[in-house]
Amino acid sequence: MLKSRRSSLDPFFEEYALDAVLITDIRNIRYLCGFSGSEGALLVSRSAVWFLCDSRYTAQARAEVQGADVRECTLRLETLYALAVENGFKRIGFEASHTSVTAFRKLAGVFSGIELVELGSVLDNVRLCKDASEIELLSSVAFLASKSLEAVLGLVKPGVLESEIALELEFEMRRRGADGRAFDFIVASGVRGAMPHGRASDKAIQSGELVTIDFGALKDAYHSDETVTIACGEPGPREREIHAIVKAAHDLAIEQVRPGLGCRELDAVARDYIGERGYGEYFGHGLGHGVGLEIHEMPTLSPRSDAILKEGMVITIEPGIYIPGFGGVRIEDTLVVTADGYRVLTCADKQLLIL
Ligand code: ZN
Ligand code: ZN
Repeated sequence: MLKSRRSSLDPFFEEYALDAVLITDIRNIRYLCGFSGSEGALLVSRSAVWFLCDSRYTAQARAEVQGADVRECTLRLETLYALAVENGFKRIGFEASHTSVTAFRKLAGVFSGIELVELGSVLDNVRLCKDASEIELLSSVAFLASKSLEAVLGLVKPGVLESEIALELEFEMRRRGADGRAFDFIVASGVRGAMPHGRASDKAIQSGELVTIDFGALKDAYHSDETVTIACGEPGPREREIHAIVKAAHDLAIEQVRPGLGCRELDAVARDYIGERGYGEYFGHGLGHGVGLEIHEMPTLSPRSDAILKEGMVITIEPGIYIPGFGGVRIEDTLVVTADGYRVLTCADKQLLIL
């Protein structure tokens, strides 16, 4: 499996006339060789792969790393340089979008006589389409998170703090085997619902308010992402109206998901629907994003996206309406693009639940 992932680097060797690729982003390292620690470097040539780490990680790397020669070192850059010289490498690609200016200067300072070639975000595109084992992990973490939410929804009642809901949800995820939360949960009630990224605060939830809960779990380095908007007590007519519009936009967009569809076109399905109902100005963000080893990754679903859906992509669909001074609604599911359509991975109920 990991060998086939590494073969996805092959086109870059041709396209950029490279002798090797240096991988330093820890998520890409995990993706390509299986190492789950927090620091290391992977040097990949056409015929050999080396994984370098310091002594803290040697035993772990020997147990986890697949298909690479594990080398322990204290001076990582100097050891990499020695390997490059020994193997006659003249051009080495690096992950420009994951390398700070300071790190690049250090790298360039050590790698004298070797041309460093910026690979930008092309390496992130390698992770665009998930393989079967990744889809299995994403599916199980999404299920765990959805079930955790169901278990704590009964706590939503007037007087409960947003932060208490967030804390209980995280406990529930951990109890069910999550390694942690995928991000700081958003629990935004009443007027705070107008903030798309309103982190759980110490505000008490009032009767009649909508409550937007955007949550996800983290397990084996994979993330889940899902949002429900529920009502605490009987909601007013406008609350019901915007919930119904967002739900319909969400459902319409999901029904369209299939390989070959442009992400911009998919975004437009939901955006046009919301716009035609007079709420276009209140839907300011993109329709969704990829999910995997990062909570937000490629592709981006927005009016500016050039990406085309492909089988194996795992994306969110998350339209919303946010009205300043009033409140808001967002509904989000994560789904995998299949050969003939899609499969939804998240499973919390998206109907307007009145608690
Ligand atoms: Zn989310
Ligand atoms: Zn999201």
